Amino acid sequence: MNYQIVRSKRKTLSLQINQEAKLVIRAPQRLSEKDIQEFVIEKSSWIERKQQQVKSQLCEKYQFEEEEMFLYLGNNYPLTIARDKYALSFNGEAFELGTDHGEASAIFKGWYKQKFREIALPRIDYFANRHNLKFNDVRLKAQKTLWGSCSNNNNLNFNYLLIMAPMNVIDYVIVHELSHTIHKNHSSDFWRLVEAILPEYKSAKKWLKDNGHKLKRL
Ligand SMILES: [Zn+2]
Repeated sequence: MNYQIVRSKRKTLSLQINQEAKLVIRAPQRLSEKDIQEFVIEKSSWIERKQQQVKSQLCEKYQFEEEEMFLYLGNNYPLTIARDKYALSFNGEAFELGTDHGEASAIFKGWYKQKFREIALPRIDYFANRHNLKFNDVRLKAQKTLWGSCSNNNNLNFNYLLIMAPMNVIDYVIVHELSHTIHKNHSSDFWRLVEAILPEYKSAKKWLKDNGHKLKRL
């Protein structure tokens, strides 16, 4: 488990889940790392429950207000509301949403889906051609629980909200699903194939585990 230890003159251990859902441990100066680890393991169900609570607050729905930050390719960009504009535009520094826009959530979803088509779909062809992996159809959905899937007859599904994530994370999910065209499981052979295609996949996998909830606010 990932945590930060803050040592002080205190006599007892205390656990705290901070605003980013990270575990912070306050500990006496001389207490050994091993004792701390044992305490963390003992309290792991409490820790997990608290972290889930904080994470679910973190992924509260977007309000579509001025200055609210929206993720795109791993970076946050502020939203501006423009009176005389229609729909949604992005100028590389900010999103601009017209006031006459209908349902903001649907408009953002449409925008992200379009960007996924432009940016991520060519990556699927790139990895498939390069590594001789065959797939049938690609479908895009905004799923609540899945980032991607691969059916028995090698139809691929992707959650287009992934376009909010950094490029290496998008590549990882693409390579993960393409690797399922060969291995329909998560065996060590499967992971060896993923690693052969994307040697750095572990950091992307971790990013998704730590930040995936931020992609589901629409
Ligand atoms: Zn899988």
